Amino acid sequence: MNRPHPALFLGHGSPLHAIEPGRYTAAWEQLGRELPRPRAIVAVSAHWYIRGTAVTLPAMPRTIHDFQGFPSALYAVQYPAPGDPQLAARVARLLSPTPVRLDHDWGLDHGTWSVLRYLYPDASVPVIQLSIDAALPAQQHYTLAQRLAPLRDARILVLGSGNVVHNLRALQFDAAVTPPSWAIGFNKAVRDAVLAGRDEDLAGYQTLDPGAALSVPTPEHYLPLLYVLALRRAGEAVSVPIDGIDLGTISMLSVLVGSRQPV
Ligand code: ZN
Repeated sequence: MNRPHPALFLGHGSPLHAIEPGRYTAAWEQLGRELPRPRAIVAVSAHWYIRGTAVTLPAMPRTIHDFQGFPSALYAVQYPAPGDPQLAARVARLLSPTPVRLDHDWGLDHGTWSVLRYLYPDASVPVIQLSIDAALPAQQHYTLAQRLAPLRDARILVLGSGNVVHNLRALQFDAAVTPPSWAIGFNKAVRDAVLAGRDEDLAGYQTLDPGAALSVPTPEHYLPLLYVLALRRAGEAVSVPIDGIDLGTISMLSVLVGSRQPV
């Protein structure tokens, strides 16, 4: 039997990465080349954090520019990947008995397209998004995500996109800045727990490390990590292909569940 398709969490950071290539975007391109090509993608983005669980239904999802005050070139970016209504319906069935709304309006937000334009620049892999229900505690997100496990046997990439440290109030626009100790400490605690398979501690991130409160002031950028970790099978590899802290308080740490080898 074929190996399950990898699952991937990416720290997406500033929307500017979408138009300013650098160290992180090069790493995303490399992952796109090295990972087996998926048949479709289910993206769990920090930027679709709403009440309730929903999946995107449009066959041609719009590119959403959900940010303000950035250069006009960023608003011109389009990521014209097709949707996959049948996959959306399948995800809704898999998540039962949790009610899942089939959403006709949302498309691809920048948590999704700012990284996918590097992984799959030709935008030919169909993409749907799954919302993050703001009413659920972290542990329930983990449990919900476990129901998506069969997707990995159908060459579907579950992509979590967020940032495990995400504090916009403490941002520092100096490339040479040393991140504050609470950001470094929490990022390391997450990394260590991921590599040790301590998923329960990661679902209870509030007590994982003293830096949690400042690193995760709101949960939406952290939770996509749990959607990826929840899909790891017994004895399966987990790795951290990308690490680093951008702008002082945004962790770019990324997590791969499964193997880079062709499935
Ligand atoms: Zn973001």
